[in-house]
Amino acid sequence: MEWLGFHFFAGLAADRALLPAQHDPLLVILAFLVACATSYATLDIAERLKHIEKPRSRDRWGGFGALCLAGGVWTVHVISMRALHVPLKMGFDIPSTLVSMLLALFAGLLSMQALGREILRPWQYLIYAAAIGLSLSAMHYAGLLGQQSVAVAYFEPHLFGLSVAIAVGTGLLIVLLARYLSDGSNLIHQLLKFAASLLLSAEILGANLLGNWSRNLTVPIDAVLLPDNPERNLQISVTLALIALLLIAATISAAIADKKLQGKEHDLRRVNALLSQLDQARMSLQQVAHFDPLTNLINRRGFNQLFAERLMEHAHDGGMLAVMFLDIDHFKRINDSLGHDAGDELLKVVAERIRSATRIQDVVSRFGGDEFCILISLPDHHEEARHLAERILQKTKEPIELAGRRMVMTTSIGISVFPRDGKTCDELLKNADLALYQSKGHGRNRFNFFSPNLRTKASLELLLEEELRSALREESELQVYYQPIVDLRTGQVAKLEALVRWQHPQHGLLTPERFIGIAEANGLIADLDSWVLQRACRDLSELRSPGFDHLIIAVNCSALNLAREELHDEIEDALRRNGVLPRRLELEVTENALMGNISNTIQLLKRIRALGVSLSIDDFGTGYSSLAYLKRLPLDTVKIDRSFIIDIPQSPQDMEIVQAIIVMAHTLHLKVVTEGVESPAQLDFLSRYGCDYVQGYLFSKPMPLEQLRPLVQELNQRKPVIVETLPQETSADENGDADHVSSPWSNRKQTIHRVKD
Ligand code: C2E
Ligand code: CA
Ligand code: CA
Repeated sequence: MEWLGFHFFAGLAADRALLPAQHDPLLVILAFLVACATSYATLDIAERLKHIEKPRSRDRWGGFGALCLAGGVWTVHVISMRALHVPLKMGFDIPSTLVSMLLALFAGLLSMQALGREILRPWQYLIYAAAIGLSLSAMHYAGLLGQQSVAVAYFEPHLFGLSVAIAVGTGLLIVLLARYLSDGSNLIHQLLKFAASLLLSAEILGANLLGNWSRNLTVPIDAVLLPDNPERNLQISVTLALIALLLIAATISAAIADKKLQGKEHDLRRVNALLSQLDQARMSLQQVAHFDPLTNLINRRGFNQLFAERLMEHAHDGGMLAVMFLDIDHFKRINDSLGHDAGDELLKVVAERIRSATRIQDVVSRFGGDEFCILISLPDHHEEARHLAERILQKTKEPIELAGRRMVMTTSIGISVFPRDGKTCDELLKNADLALYQSKGHGRNRFNFFSPNLRTKASLELLLEEELRSALREESELQVYYQPIVDLRTGQVAKLEALVRWQHPQHGLLTPERFIGIAEANGLIADLDSWVLQRACRDLSELRSPGFDHLIIAVNCSALNLAREELHDEIEDALRRNGVLPRRLELEVTENALMGNISNTIQLLKRIRALGVSLSIDDFGTGYSSLAYLKRLPLDTVKIDRSFIIDIPQSPQDMEIVQAIIVMAHTLHLKVVTEGVESPAQLDFLSRYGCDYVQGYLFSKPMPLEQLRPLVQELNQRKPVIVETLPQETSADENGDADHVSSPWSNRKQTIHRVKD
């Protein structure tokens, strides 16, 4: 029976003899060794293929693997063929040898392709197994058929079939084992790999030996047989085995080296990934540490860092920088009266406006609270900084909607310039701050450049603070002046406002404007106010003579003092110690002082009022409160701020405001004092519209009590003309001269002029 050139054994013809065949155990062992090495190398390469990410190096390793596997199995095939000794000289047919080589290579390539695939379905396993197995079988049988001799080869169908089946099993094992053992590096994994290599090599060799066994060589009975040369077989086999083993060893070494290299690369990548993660974490930390979450501007820390960098650059290149400190005027009032949400909203809007007024390369930061700082590079003069400051002032002045109210906010700015005003960050910031202080001191809503005399002023201020401290301790240089407050109904002096003065040894008589701020900023205000209170009560106790015994003394109380619970006890103590009736004392608190912790303040004021002391709200109209709001407060009097009086009678608007305040205050049963009355026209206006009390230079400037006594007496002796109807047009000339003015006080012109002079 013949199939594809195969003669299948159907029985021995009478004229033919079966050649005895025997395997050489040495060569079988040699073939097994090569098979083992080949299997191990294949598993190793499968592992490599699994872990290589770059496609090019995958292809390279696939090629290596195919060559290694093909070389290995082909060598096993040749050695196993040569291991079969028959007493007959065998020749080799080159084409068959080449075909068997190509088939081995094909099996190798197929295996590597199967191993290189990401996913293999069960049917794909079977197809690859069949293809690889058949190629291996074909390789072996092509080799067997290529052996040339006088003998005719007959094949045993069962053994032939079995060898093919084992070869297909080999194909399946290669794909299965190689894929499943491609992960792991521990000892068990290594042992499994060795075991799998043994199994695989047994199959490879088994298929070959079975192929050998399936062949029966028959020769004519009378054939003359040339004996085979076993030494030559051994030599060829050993040589081939050595070449194959060398090739395999090289492949395994390369695989090991590559694995290590890849491990290092992997480590390096991991380190890089970790580093970039660290970098990101650092950046987000920096973001948090260097940014202000409310305004999205950088914060003080971020600014300082950038400032230091820019300063270094500019110092190196010789450029100029401007540092601008910016502060929202009366920000606290917004926070206190409209709440912190409105304050936050205001900060955001202002931050946005500053941002929009600056250029992209300028650094804008929020330093905290309502303080902003801007850093700009200047070309070669200061004009740029001036323009920017003007732009910012203009922009922040645009109306803002806050808590449902339209408000106009202003800002103050202080500017210092590098290198003129300082070489270091600290120096420049300090000088910009001094310039800002100057802007605030000059009425706010303006900017100022730093100048060296500001520094002198600042150190003077520091000195002044020290001196104030010691003046308070010594009680020698402080004085209380008094200014009369006249009752418009009776024309009598009804109250005296106590106003502190400081007789400074070098600077002469200082008004409170020079030192109240310092006292407030340095924790001296409680002592100062308490001293004035004690002195006022002492003076009150001495005002016993007729005309003076009814006088009320109004004492100013700083907003900061309203946060002190002790104030109540201090007042009670001052009254008791000096034997003064509480109704002869009035406390003046500014409107804004009431906006802080309102419920605590109300409690404290109620307790103070319960003593019998009356309460007056000072500077009314400058804050954000309304009269309706003030209804909740335990008040007796409203003092209209001087700023509303200054332009009367020229400003109809101010006149209307004052009129409205008077009407509203009266509705709430509050008395009205108007301060800063300087001209008879103002007085005339106020008396016509029902103001209760007036205070101002028109009657008297503040002065020491001894000097005031005769003046009070004189004022009290004259009775006012009660105005029943509205007088004719009133006007005062530029000097506030009252000569042509018709006023209920016109009979006092003499006195007035004397006082003013
Ligand atoms: P104030 O309570 O509004 O006091 C009225 C200020 O206006 C006084 O200034 C007074 O001299 C001034 N004044 C009165 N009439 C006229 C006028 O017709 N024309 C002009 N141009 N000014 C007039 P002074 O004495 O310099 O006090 C300034 C501020 O200092 C006071 O304003 C008050 O807020 C504060 N102050 C004064 N004494 C004390 C005190 O003992 N404690 C506290 N905490 N503050 C005080
Ligand atoms: Ca006052
Ligand atoms: Ca006032």
